[in-house]
Amino acid sequence: MPSPREECLFCRLVAEGDHVHSADGFVAIRDINPIAETHLLVLPQRHVDTFKEVAAFPDDEAARMLRFVSETADVAGLEDYRVLVNVGAGAGQTVFHLHWHVLGGRPDRERIVQALEATG
Ligand code: AMP
Ligand code: ZN
Repeated sequence: MPSPREECLFCRLVAEGDHVHSADGFVAIRDINPIAETHLLVLPQRHVDTFKEVAAFPDDEAARMLRFVSETADVAGLEDYRVLVNVGAGAGQTVFHLHWHVLGGRPDRERIVQALEATG
């Protein structure tokens, strides 16, 4: 596994964060600024900049990542939920360590609008 990047916030949270779920090279954490009642982030343990790199993932890693996203929603007790990835700064990506947003329950509409507006 490539070494964590010292300057990367999410590499630090992989190592030291409070994990809601962890397995198989992936962890889930709570988003610090939730835009829904339940707002989790799924991160690969290894540093990957963006979703674009998924094209180069080995098939088994891509499959395990999707399974982990689904398991995370189960662990959080979510029946219905949204899964979202912002890819690149122009689409609202602010942390450049790949992460999937898992959003369940009542959305915070004001914060969603703010997040969308921040991308112009
Ligand atoms: P994105 O804008 O798609 O890159 O998402 C980055 C997410 O990371 C945002 O929803 C932030 O609220 C969240 N975030 C930033 N810092 C932290 C932190 N220390 N712990 C948990 N989530 C964070
Ligand atoms: Zn990282």
